[in-house]
Amino acid sequence: MTELRRDVDAVVVGAGFAGLYAHHRLRRLGLTLQGFEAAADVGGTWWWNRYPGARCDVESMDYSYSFSPELEQEWTWTERYAPQPEILRYAEHVADRFDLRRDIRFETRVTAATWDEAAQRWQVETDRGDRVSARFLIMATGCLSAAKEPEIDGIGSFRGRTLHTGRWPHEGVDLTGQRVGVIGTGSSGIQSIPLIAQQAAHLTVFQRTPNFTMPAKHAPLDPEAVNARKARAQEIRKAMRESRAGVIVPVPEHSALEVDDQARRARFEQAWETGTLYGMVAAFNDLLIDRDANETAAEFVRARIRETVADPDLAERLSPRNHPFGTKRPCLDSGYYATYNRDNVTLVDVRSNPIVAITPTGVRTTTDEHDLDVIVFATGFDAMTGPLLGPDITGAGGMKLRDKWAAGPRTYLGIATAGFPNLFTVTGPGSPSVLVNMLVAIEQHVDWVAGCIAYLHEHDLASIDATVEAEDRWVDHVNDVASYTLFPQANSWYMGANVPGKPRVFMPYIGGLPRYTETIDGVAADGYRGFTLTPATAPEREPSASQT
Ligand SMILES: Cc1cc2nc3c(=O)[nH]c(=O)nc-3n(C[C@H](O)[C@H](O)[C@H](O)COP(=O)(O)OP(=O)(O)OC[C@H]3O[C@@H](n4cnc5c(N)ncnc54)[C@H](O)[C@@H]3O)c2cc1C
Repeated sequence: MTELRRDVDAVVVGAGFAGLYAHHRLRRLGLTLQGFEAAADVGGTWWWNRYPGARCDVESMDYSYSFSPELEQEWTWTERYAPQPEILRYAEHVADRFDLRRDIRFETRVTAATWDEAAQRWQVETDRGDRVSARFLIMATGCLSAAKEPEIDGIGSFRGRTLHTGRWPHEGVDLTGQRVGVIGTGSSGIQSIPLIAQQAAHLTVFQRTPNFTMPAKHAPLDPEAVNARKARAQEIRKAMRESRAGVIVPVPEHSALEVDDQARRARFEQAWETGTLYGMVAAFNDLLIDRDANETAAEFVRARIRETVADPDLAERLSPRNHPFGTKRPCLDSGYYATYNRDNVTLVDVRSNPIVAITPTGVRTTTDEHDLDVIVFATGFDAMTGPLLGPDITGAGGMKLRDKWAAGPRTYLGIATAGFPNLFTVTGPGSPSVLVNMLVAIEQHVDWVAGCIAYLHEHDLASIDATVEAEDRWVDHVNDVASYTLFPQANSWYMGANVPGKPRVFMPYIGGLPRYTETIDGVAADGYRGFTLTPATAPEREPSASQT
C-alpha cells in the first residue's frame, strides 16, 4: 500500500481509464495527487467485468488512448474487439509505462467529501478511515461502475451460486454441467449468453425487454492493417475527435424514408455487414429522430431474427417492439440469436410471466419453477449518477449532492455542478459520455480539467464554481436536444429506468462531440463563462515540482 498523502492539490477517485489519464495529465502540471480506487488494481470497468464474452464494442484501435503517440505505436491490439483480459492488460501496461500506480491507494473506497469554505478545500474520507485535504476533487468514478443489484424477493434464500456480471470472480467460473439462469438481456447478458450456453448443461434466460443486437464479426487483426493504421494514427485520431461519436462513421445524407425499399434494404445490409455499433444507427440520417424511419431499421433487425431463430414463436419473443431501434444501447454479439436454436437454452419472457421470487432451488415465475445451480444477474448498473451519489458529497453551505440531484442530475457541461466548487466529474451526466467512444470523451474532459486548473493557478484563483443560471441553461439545453430525438421514448438506463425510484431524466448529452467540444472549449476561452471564480485570499501554495 502506498503511503497516504494527507494534503494534496487533487484527489482523484477511480483508476479506470479516466482516473489513470487524470493522474498522468495532472502530474504533468506539477500537482500533488492522492488517488483512491475501490478495486485492487487499475482498469476500472475492465477490472470488474470479467464475465465470459466481455469485450469492447468500439473497435480496439479506437478504444484506446491517443495522448501518447509512443504508446500508440508500441501497443498492438490482436483482435478487432478486444476481449476483457487484453483491455485490462492494456490498462496495466499504461499504468506501468507512466508509473501511475504510485499515488493510488487500492481497495479503498471514498465514502465522503466535504467542501471546507474557509479553507477552499475538499476534505475527503475513505472506508479505511483516511482523511485527505485537497484543493480539487476529480470524480473519475465511471458511468457504469455501480453494479445494479436485482431487487427480487427471496434472493438470499438461494442455495446455489449467484453471480453478477459486473462483479465476476477473478478466478473464473466453470459452468460445465450446471443448470444456469441468466437474468437480464442488456449488453452484458447478450455478450455472455452464447458462451454460457456452450458450457452449461442447461441455460434459462429470463428476458424482460428484448434488445436489438448485431453480429460483431469478431476477427483477429491483420498485422498489415494495424501497421497501416499506426502510420496514419495522428490523422485518424484528429478525425475521431472531430466526429460525432468519437469514431469515424460516414455521415449519412439521406432519410430512410426518401429511398425505395430495395435501396433501403441494400443500405441496411451494407451497414449490418460492417459489424459496428454505429454502422446501423448511421445508415440514414433520421433513424434516431423519426419514428417511421426508425421502424424501417427495427424491422430490418427483426427480419434478421426471424431468419436466424428456427422457432417463429421464439423469434417473435426475441424481437424488440417496445422501444425504437438504437434508443437503448445497441449491442454487438457473437451468435446471440442463434444461441436460442440450441436444445439446452430456454427463454422465459418475464414481462408476460414475471419473476415472483428466488427460492432455495431456483427462480419462480407466475406459472413455473425453474430449478437452477447458478443464477447470473446481468442486471447492469445504476448508470452515470450511481457512482457520483455513492459517496456522501457535501458542497458549499452544507448542500448535499444527493439532495441537489434528487430529481435528476444537474450539471454545467457535465463536468461541474453549481455549489460544489473545484469538483470535476469526468464524463458526468450532461456530457456526451456513454453515447460516444468513451476514451475520446475521457481524454477531452481530463484535458479540459487540466487546462482549467492551470488557468486558476496562473490567475491566482482559489476556486471555480458553476453558476446556477449557467447550469439551468445547460440542463434545459441537454433536455431540449434529447427531446428532439426518440431516446426519451425508451425505458433505458440512459433514462434511469432500470433503477426503481430513480428520476426519469435523459442523462447524457446527445448533441454530439463536435458541438459539445466547441461549447466547452468556448467557455474556457471566454475566461470560464458561466462559472464564478474566487480569488485566493491567502498566498497560494505553489504546486510541487513536476513529477514526470
Ligand atoms: C462490459 C462493458 C463494456 C464496455 N464497452 C465499451 C466500449 O466498447 N466502448 C466504450 O466507449 N465504452 C465501453 N464501456 C464503458 C466503459 O465504462 C468506459 O469505456 C470506460 O472504461 C470508463 O472508464 P472510467 O475510468 O471513466 O470508469 P470505470 O472504468 O468505470 O472506472 C471507475 C473506477 O472508479 C472506481 N470507483 C467508483 N466509485 C469509487 C469510490 N467512491 N471510491 C473509490 N473508487 C471508486 C470504480 O471501482 C472503478 O474502478 C463498457 C462498459 C462495460 C461495463
